[in-house]
Amino acid sequence: MHRTHGFDIVSVTYLPELNSKGVFARHRETGCEVYHMLNDDEENLFAYSFMTPPTDSTGVAHILEHSVLCGSKNYPLKDPFLILAKQSVKTFLNAMTFPDKTVYPASSMVEADYFNLMAVYGDSVFFPLLDRWIFRQEGHRVEMDESGNATVQGIVFNEMRGNYSSFDTIAGDWTIRSILEGTPYTHDSGGDPAVIPELTYEQFINFHRTYYHPVNCRIFLYGNIPTEKQLAFLQDRFLSSFSKAPAVPPISAVPHRTEPRTLYVPGPATDDDSERCTVHLNWLLGEVSDAETIMEANLVSEILLGHDGAPLSRALLASELGEDVAPSSGLETELRYLCFSAGLRGVRREDADKVGKTVLDTLARIAEQGVPQDDLEAAVHSLDFSNREIRRSHGPFALIHMRRALRGWNHGFGPDGTLRYIPAFDAVKARLAGDPAYVQSLVKKWFLENNHRDLVVVYPDQDYGKRLEERLSSFAQTALGENGSFREKLRAEQKDLARIQETPDSGDLLAKIPHVSRNDLPTMTETVPSDIGRSGTVPLVRHELPTNGITYVEAAFPVDSLSPQEYLLLPLLASVLTSCGMDGLSWVDSSALSARYTGGLQAPLFPAIPVPRVYPPVPPAGTISLSG
Ligand SMILES: [Zn+2]
Repeated sequence: MHRTHGFDIVSVTYLPELNSKGVFARHRETGCEVYHMLNDDEENLFAYSFMTPPTDSTGVAHILEHSVLCGSKNYPLKDPFLILAKQSVKTFLNAMTFPDKTVYPASSMVEADYFNLMAVYGDSVFFPLLDRWIFRQEGHRVEMDESGNATVQGIVFNEMRGNYSSFDTIAGDWTIRSILEGTPYTHDSGGDPAVIPELTYEQFINFHRTYYHPVNCRIFLYGNIPTEKQLAFLQDRFLSSFSKAPAVPPISAVPHRTEPRTLYVPGPATDDDSERCTVHLNWLLGEVSDAETIMEANLVSEILLGHDGAPLSRALLASELGEDVAPSSGLETELRYLCFSAGLRGVRREDADKVGKTVLDTLARIAEQGVPQDDLEAAVHSLDFSNREIRRSHGPFALIHMRRALRGWNHGFGPDGTLRYIPAFDAVKARLAGDPAYVQSLVKKWFLENNHRDLVVVYPDQDYGKRLEERLSSFAQTALGENGSFREKLRAEQKDLARIQETPDSGDLLAKIPHVSRNDLPTMTETVPSDIGRSGTVPLVRHELPTNGITYVEAAFPVDSLSPQEYLLLPLLASVLTSCGMDGLSWVDSSALSARYTGGLQAPLFPAIPVPRVYPPVPPAGTISLSG
C-alpha cells in the first residue's frame, strides 16, 4: 500500500465511463477518508461531508451547518462565508443538511482560489468558534419587543417555521418518517419549530464534538489538481492536529414490519383547502448498498411514475380521487434505505382508502399482465438520458457525482459502489432483455409481497397553527422566568447580541480571508464554438460540444409583434404549450411519446434586447423557445 502525507492509498480504480481515475485514501491517524475523481476537468470541486444522524427534531445538524460558517480559529470573523463568497471566483459555494449527513461543497476554475476555499471551509468545519451568541443568532433565543412581548427567534428557527407552514413539505416529510420509524430518519434534521427551542447550547457543542471529528469525515474531490497536493494540504492544515477518536456507529437498522399501517397526520390548514388531504402509500424497498439495486429501483419507479402517461400516474389521475399526483411520489435514493411513495394530493378524507386501493390494484395488474413495450422503452430511455446528461443545475456537474458517491459511502459501502452507473445500467438492461417477467417479479417482491408499507393521510388541521403558537409562547414564558424574573437578563443578552451583530469586523480580520490576485486568473476566456448558417429561410446556429451523445434543440420565436396586453398571456401560453396534448394525441399519450424520444420539452420565455452587429440578429424584444 502506497503511503503519502499521512494517508494510505487504499485503491486506485479506472472509471472509463466517467473519464476519471478514482483514488481512495484513508488518513492513517484519524481514519478520515478521501475519494478523488481525478480527471482533466479544470473545474475542481471539494466537499467535506459528515454523517450527522439526528436523535431528535431540534435541528441541531442544521443549526450547526449554519453556525460553523460564523467564524473559526484562523478566520475569527463574524461571517467569513459572506466575505469569501464576495471575493472568490468560485463556481459553487454552499452547505446542505440532509436527513443523515451535512455536506460543505465548493468549486472553482482557479487553483489558488480552490485552495483558499478549501482552507476557509476546512477551518470552519474542524475549528469553528461556536460562541454562545452564534448559537443564539443561528439557532434560537427568546427576544422581547418594545412593549415587552417575548417571542422565539433565530435564523434556522424562522427558516423551519416557513417550511412547516407548507402542507406539501409536511406531506413529503412523512413519506420517509413513517416508513423508517425507529431510525434517525423519524426525526427532522432540519428542525421542527415546536422542538427547536428545546436544544441546549451544551447539546449543540457536543454534537459538533461527536460528529465533526475527521474519523466521521468523508472528503470528496473532483478535477485535475493532483491528489498528492490536496492530501498534503489537508494533512498540513487540518488533520495533523487531530488524534484518534472512536468511529461513529452506522445508522441504526430499521425494524422490519410485517403488517401494513394507516396513519393520519395533521398538517397546516388554509381556509380554502380545509377538506383536501394528501394521501401516500409508502414502501421500504431495501438498503442502498450498490449501484445495481439503485438502478433497478430507479427503473421500476420510472416505469410506474415517470410521466403522466406512465401506468401508475395514469391510474391515479384517471381515478379522479384527487387533484394531481402528490409531488413527493417516487423513489428516495439519498438515505440508507430505498423508499418508494405513490399518491395523490387534493383528496377528500373519506376517499383516502380508495387511493390506496387504486395503487395496489394497479400494481397487481402490472404484476399479472406486465408492462407494455412502449412504457418499458420510455423508462429505459429516460434513465439513460438522466444518467448521461451533463448539466449544470445550480452548480457544477461534479455535484451529481458527489451525491452519487456519498449515497453508499456514507453507510460504509465504499465511494465507487454507488458512483458508477453505466455498469449498473448495462446489467439492468441485460436482465430486462433476458427475462420477460423481470419487472413483474420486482413489482411483486417490492410492493405486493412486501408489507412494510404505510398509507399516510396528511390532513389540514385548523388547530395546527394554534398548537404551535401555544407551545412557542410557553417556551417564551419559561425563558422569562417566574414573574418575569429573567426579564432583565434576557434584555442584557439581547443587547449584547445586537451589539455584536452591529459591530463591523476590523480591517485586520477582513484581511485574513484569502483572495486571488490578478496573476492567479487566466488571461483567456473560454469560447463556445459556433457555426452559423441557415436551414431554409431560418437562421441556424450550431455549437459542437461534448454532451455525451445528447442533442439539444432550441427553436426561438420572436414575440415582439405582440401588443403589451398580449404579453400578459405569454406565461400561460408557455405553460400550455408543453402541458397539453398535441395534434390528434391526448396529454397522456403525448407525454408518453415525449418520454420515449426526448429528455423533456420546455417552453421558457426570454426577454432580450437588440445586440448590434450580431448575426443572426437577436430578436429585438423577447422570445418564446421550444427546447428538448
Ligand atoms: Zn438553513
